[in-house]
Amino acid sequence: MKLIELPSPNHAARAATVDVLVLHFTELPLDESLNVLRDDQRPHRVSSHYVLAEDGTAYRLVSEDRVAWHAGRSHWRGREALNATSIGIEIVNLHGDRHDYPEVQVAALIALCRDIIGRHPAIVPRNIVGHSDIAPKRKVDPGLRFPWATLAIEGVGLWPHAGATPIEGDIQTALQRFGYPPAVEVTTADIIASFQRRFRPGRVDGIADHETCALLADLLDQVRHEA
Ligand SMILES: [Zn+2]
Repeated sequence: MKLIELPSPNHAARAATVDVLVLHFTELPLDESLNVLRDDQRPHRVSSHYVLAEDGTAYRLVSEDRVAWHAGRSHWRGREALNATSIGIEIVNLHGDRHDYPEVQVAALIALCRDIIGRHPAIVPRNIVGHSDIAPKRKVDPGLRFPWATLAIEGVGLWPHAGATPIEGDIQTALQRFGYPPAVEVTTADIIASFQRRFRPGRVDGIADHETCALLADLLDQVRHEA
């Protein structure tokens, strides 16, 4: 993997342990993405630790020991404002619901994620998330075509097995047990849709059907030994 240092002025001091990795799509071409993420004149300054081009070249904009501004309002496993404890990768793709991620880009992403996880052992598989997981309804990236299953096979993040016995009881409680936010500013249907976007992209309808509840049951089983 080719890594180019291209510092952004948009960062802040890091006070907490890094334990979350957030994946995004840029929604912009490479050059524009690099400009926006290094612009310190915007009213709302943004950045990320890495930008990953379609040809697999990685650009490092912010050092991992500094906070980058990629997640915004966000929630995972009972914590909010995840910039403080996360690393962000912006993957160049104009919209991951419509455009595939090229193989060479996915291979580079897997290598980059493995490097990051190696440096930050607190990033457990469950804490490798999409922006859509931590900001339901507000964000949809990295999108329906993002190859989460491929990443999981390569040891990056989780992917559910089919055929588990569906969870019983309150779906919202179960989603929160996995990491999703409470239904405060969004509805449970929004959060179910966010879960489906990630783990059952074939049908994203916000309905807790048999398959959705079975996939969630399997994922909860996969993480039952985690703290
Ligand atoms: Zn994003």
